Amino acid sequence: MGLLTIGAFAKASRLSPKALRLYDELGLLTPARVDATTGYRLYAPGQLEQARLVAWLRRLGMPLARIRELTGLDGPAQAREIRAYWAQVESEVSARRDMAAFLIDHLSREDSAMPHTDRHLGIRYAALSDTGLVRENNQDAAYAGSRLLAVADGFGEGGAPASAAAVETFKRLETGDLPAANLLNVLEESVSRAGEAVHEIAASGPRPDGPDGSAGSEVGTTLTAMLWTGSQLALVHIGDTRAYLLRDGELSRITHDHTLVQSMVDEGRISAAEADSHPQRSLLARALIGGPDDRADMRLQDVQAGDRYLLCSDGLTSVVPDAEVRTALAAGDEPERTVRELVDTARLAGGPDNVSCVVADVLELAAPA
Ligand code: MG
Repeated sequence: MGLLTIGAFAKASRLSPKALRLYDELGLLTPARVDATTGYRLYAPGQLEQARLVAWLRRLGMPLARIRELTGLDGPAQAREIRAYWAQVESEVSARRDMAAFLIDHLSREDSAMPHTDRHLGIRYAALSDTGLVRENNQDAAYAGSRLLAVADGFGEGGAPASAAAVETFKRLETGDLPAANLLNVLEESVSRAGEAVHEIAASGPRPDGPDGSAGSEVGTTLTAMLWTGSQLALVHIGDTRAYLLRDGELSRITHDHTLVQSMVDEGRISAAEADSHPQRSLLARALIGGPDDRADMRLQDVQAGDRYLLCSDGLTSVVPDAEVRTALAAGDEPERTVRELVDTARLAGGPDNVSCVVADVLELAAPA
């Protein structure tokens, strides 16, 4: 079978000639031959499959540059790329869904003053941070107060002041008004202030220059914080510190790690079990560094009396299996005892990293007389 004119090829591929010309200009689908005299594009029948693939990927919303990379690969590699792209889309959609839910919840509330007194819930809490048995200093920070629960894990030269600064910034929310309608803005502003504080620490610290004059190790921190509004917990999360919920005896993780290994799991490249033992499992995909990409996940967590929340650094979760964490939480001891027990369990497991835990219980308070 000979070459097809652009019209015939358009008809066979169910793409418009205009789209085909665009794909040619973008290097996504180059015609088999361009007539030197007339400039007409001619296509080989064997190009139909690729033309349709490009059209499908456009419908998926894949950016052109990514399609261009993909068209050079073989089938299985293309499948992996599409899976990776889709995992990324889904994680973006899920972050947007949380944001929408946050806004819907707050805009549907009639009163804008907190706390909401209709549910009579309160929290009791404890925090503990420990250097562990291997590290020389503690770059984690942990805090629990009447409104704020927070765990941060600093890294780089100045990691300790970075995690402390992030938590300090959020501690300002312990006092003063917390207008419900403005909660999202308040949290966003705190994230950006915390990022600025981290950036200042990085800028004032020693900067070991690489051989090419590039900056040395980056300074930053993870942050997982929950703000008690009087009836709900607003969650702010960036990095690989985590938040868990124990409800009705079931332990579930309510944060998503921003690590390269987690994205590989999301993209189906490795299994969750492989991720747990991956040598690069601590490489962060996102953290507070005071840059333009300091994007935290934000979510409103609906609470019930009896809920028990755990915020922790990777110094706990990298050495203590979920089942053991669950057992310690489900024992129902006071938060002070539980954080102590969790930290001790990490130390018994070798304590290779700093370990921080915050435990908070949601309690039914007696209704005011
Ligand atoms: Mg750590």
